[in-house]
Amino acid sequence: MEVRVKLVKIVFSVVFLCLFCFAATGLAQEKGGSIMVMKIEKKGAALTGTKGKGETSLSGEVVYRIIQTRKAMAFELDSLGLVGTGINTERGESGNISIKLKPKTSRTKYDPKRRVIESTFLVEVHYPLIDRIKGYIVPKEGEREMDDYRSYTETFEGTLVSQLSESPRLGKKMEMKKGAAVTIKMNPTEKVLGEISQLYGEFRVIDVIIFPRLYIKRYINVQPVFVRYTPDQGCFGGTTTATTGGSFNTLRDRSIEMWNRCCIGLNFLPPVYVENDDYRILSSAEEANLRAEYNDANAVEVFFVEVSDPVGLHGGGVCFSSGTANAQIITYDTNLPINLYNLAHELGHALGLFHPPGNSTPASLMEPSGFCADNPALMSNENCDNASNPLLTTRIPLTLCIRNTNM
Ligand SMILES: [Zn+2]
Repeated sequence: MEVRVKLVKIVFSVVFLCLFCFAATGLAQEKGGSIMVMKIEKKGAALTGTKGKGETSLSGEVVYRIIQTRKAMAFELDSLGLVGTGINTERGESGNISIKLKPKTSRTKYDPKRRVIESTFLVEVHYPLIDRIKGYIVPKEGEREMDDYRSYTETFEGTLVSQLSESPRLGKKMEMKKGAAVTIKMNPTEKVLGEISQLYGEFRVIDVIIFPRLYIKRYINVQPVFVRYTPDQGCFGGTTTATTGGSFNTLRDRSIEMWNRCCIGLNFLPPVYVENDDYRILSSAEEANLRAEYNDANAVEVFFVEVSDPVGLHGGGVCFSSGTANAQIITYDTNLPINLYNLAHELGHALGLFHPPGNSTPASLMEPSGFCADNPALMSNENCDNASNPLLTTRIPLTLCIRNTNM
């Protein structure tokens, strides 16, 4: 009976997606290259911390590239992004756990007889307790705007073993009813706090789809948060309420336009409200309190305030815990009418991009603007290639997409 209850608790699905790659698209991938997406929804994975064993609900996606050579089928771990609910540790609640593959750290073997894929890799792990205790890495931007606050992150080494129920047939649309079974294990190798010592989960796969198409669109949830306040002047001064977010529609539409160019869909959730007159004009001392007011594990929050105090504190906006599932943005309504692309720029930080020449292109959207100047409305392939966040996931049915960069 217990086993049955456990099975009911667990929801797994795996999508295999095969992409035929044609040189004609200009976005070169190796001929015969394919993509396999494993969608993960796992309740009750084991999470061990300094206060002992707990449970975490994991969600996210694992993506493999499959290359068929004459001799064998080779798998390469392309991305791994997971978010887990936190646990209580000796230094407090960890907050949501963000897990992201470190590029070029994975090794994968595939045994076609047993249909087992076995990967070892390193991941970047972040949980908000780290920020609360260690603070942020202060941007070294000199004269330029300081709007990209990175978190200290821990490194875990992991293994992922997936047993497929059928051999993948590349380039053919197919569905594997019996799916696959997955085991994941991660332990820290480089600690900042060291409050989490192990993550372990066994994943039962119920669904596998092979879909032969070129490019897929990935989505990320964005949660707008507005401040509700009592105006102190005007016709109804002191007797009614108003909200921030007057710049929302414009900044949202420009952000969607820019990130669509990278086949990244911004899924804006309905706005939520924080009631506090103090947050309307926001000082740096108030930023942490405002950000603590709302935190959705599966979305990047964007807090809209009227203006910063002092004006121009971070330029047009700021991103904290950039590149992690815990990323949060503050942007200012006073960006309008000039700075139309500030939110698109800050979302670039949330997607792990630094100002150029880090991992983004000079003169592109990721060029800092300063206050009262617009970020360039230019998107590059380099920006698209390097955009990553554990919250980026595909949707079923898959949305096809072709990049439309404009620089
Ligand atoms: Zn910036």
